[in-house]
Amino acid sequence: MKHTCLIALIGLLWLSSSLSAQPKYALAVHGGAGADPAHMSREEIAGVETRLQAVLRQGLAQLKAGRSSLEVVETAVRSLEDDPWFNAGRGAALNSAGEAELDAAIMDGSNLQCGAVAGVRRCKNPVSLARFVMEKTPHVLMVGLGADRFAEESGLEMVDNDYFITERARQALRKKQGTVGCVALDQQGHLAAATSTGGLTGKRPGRVGDSPIIGAGTYADDRGCAVSCTGVGEEFIRRQIAGQISQRMRFNGVSLSESVKLTFADGLPDDVGGVIALNRQGDWVLHFNTVGMSRGAADSQGRFMVAIGKDK
Ligand code: ASP
Repeated sequence: MKHTCLIALIGLLWLSSSLSAQPKYALAVHGGAGADPAHMSREEIAGVETRLQAVLRQGLAQLKAGRSSLEVVETAVRSLEDDPWFNAGRGAALNSAGEAELDAAIMDGSNLQCGAVAGVRRCKNPVSLARFVMEKTPHVLMVGLGADRFAEESGLEMVDNDYFITERARQALRKKQGTVGCVALDQQGHLAAATSTGGLTGKRPGRVGDSPIIGAGTYADDRGCAVSCTGVGEEFIRRQIAGQISQRMRFNGVSLSESVKLTFADGLPDDVGGVIALNRQGDWVLHFNTVGMSRGAADSQGRFMVAIGKDK
């Protein structure tokens, strides 16, 4: 009897130590703030949720295979750019001239390397161009013609501006469409963030939002957290929301959820948008002050969720 108890105890100890030694990885995605599930059809809700679930599964598989968070956020955002349901890449919101002008950014939390593009009209996947800016140039932000030219020279896939324009975007069926973003934590303990958007429907040609502004709509720092924002970009730029959330953690020692709460409470007007944020412990916060935000998150411990409306 004594022996059986001892063996059971050793077994339990082994199990708990192997569980805690499990690699910890996590990711969160958003498909934009503002969508109101009360005004969406069942098909629309299912459409958004199914797509976010697919992106989460793809990201989890990559993270499990040991891929870097940087690669994961790029792949996730590329998938959402290719999907006409979201306001990024194909299906992006159009400017007042009826054209697509795309913004995107990516950031590596392990070394603060980052890249961004704004006002891109022909590069099929702006998030990959942002990564090229980060890795192949000494710059952080490239815009317009020069950015498209750089994409072409780099051999990235190019398309006519018409490729991005869908009937749905043309009719601007939804008031605020969904920018996309992803934050991830890899097995090496590194964070990354990426965001991509067509901006606000009917924006002035040349207007740039928060998504490609490092520290406003996108930020990642292993010493703080990774953040991707969505909403009225001007409000996020003014307050440097993404950077502020990370810096509050770093310099004030507050938790991730406290930091998001304090940052939103510090004068961000109501009904302007939301954020997804993730720290090195794999805790996530998906917070918004709009009626809804398409969002999802998953991790190595088996947590998996997607939602559009407020948490119940
Ligand atoms: N934040 C984006 C922008 O202002 C738009 C959005 O998230 O829907 O360009």
